[in-house]
Amino acid sequence: MALLQVKDIKKTFGDNEVLKGVSIEVNKGDVVSVLGPSGSGKTTLLRCINFLEKADGGRFVFDGREYDLSDISKRDIAAIRKKTGFVFQNYNLFANKTVIQNVTLGLTSARKIHSKEADAIAIDVLTKVGMESFKDYYPSQLSGGQQQRVAIARALATKPEILYFDEPTSALDPQLTAEVLEVMRNLASEGMTMIVVTHEMGFARDVSSHVIFMADGNIVEEGPAKEFFTAPKQARTKEFLRLTE
Ligand code: ADP
Repeated sequence: MALLQVKDIKKTFGDNEVLKGVSIEVNKGDVVSVLGPSGSGKTTLLRCINFLEKADGGRFVFDGREYDLSDISKRDIAAIRKKTGFVFQNYNLFANKTVIQNVTLGLTSARKIHSKEADAIAIDVLTKVGMESFKDYYPSQLSGGQQQRVAIARALATKPEILYFDEPTSALDPQLTAEVLEVMRNLASEGMTMIVVTHEMGFARDVSSHVIFMADGNIVEEGPAKEFFTAPKQARTKEFLRLTE
């Protein structure tokens, strides 16, 4: 059974129909890259399935339970969020908290985990992303790539069943991008389930198991990453791949 299913999700901003009935299915261990031209609705899709944006319609199946995306209770959202993690484009770290405090905050406040145990979890996840020696630094003392690795550690700390990434490297230069992608590659090899909105074609091709290609609020093509890159079927996909080569 799929870990996560989204059925016919719709979202309109004003008279701009941004998601026109998108359906996706993610199994445990899948790494799904969401590709497509700017403005095609990728970020909106991710934000709607993490309830940062309210969808106008659609069903959401997670962990065996089904919800109406346009009418889901705060309580259900909170319960689902406990099992998911989100990594933003611009890291969203608290500037006035140290690296370790950024990671432990969600554990001690929202989950009532004892601070000693939270520290141990934080060190563990910071080690995973190669940031343990920076635990007492403040975000402003770190590069963008290091901040994003801390943000990934923070998302990992709550042991999510699925991680969502919204263009996690688009604010970074190529070298810093590489170190973040390396962390994501390691997570993928450990079996972490991920949905990644990205412009990194190398990552999509080499690391993801599935690719979803969106344009104008619809999924134009999707499939196993290998197939998608070696034998794209739709003219729009072929054109996109040609332009991003
Ligand atoms: P992508 O991630 O593929 O670049 P987005 O999901 O960010 O696309 O945006 C899709 C469309 O939705 C764009 O036309 C964008 O201007 C519009 N949009 C996104 N968020 C909002 C918002 N909060 N209010 C109004 N329009 C929005």
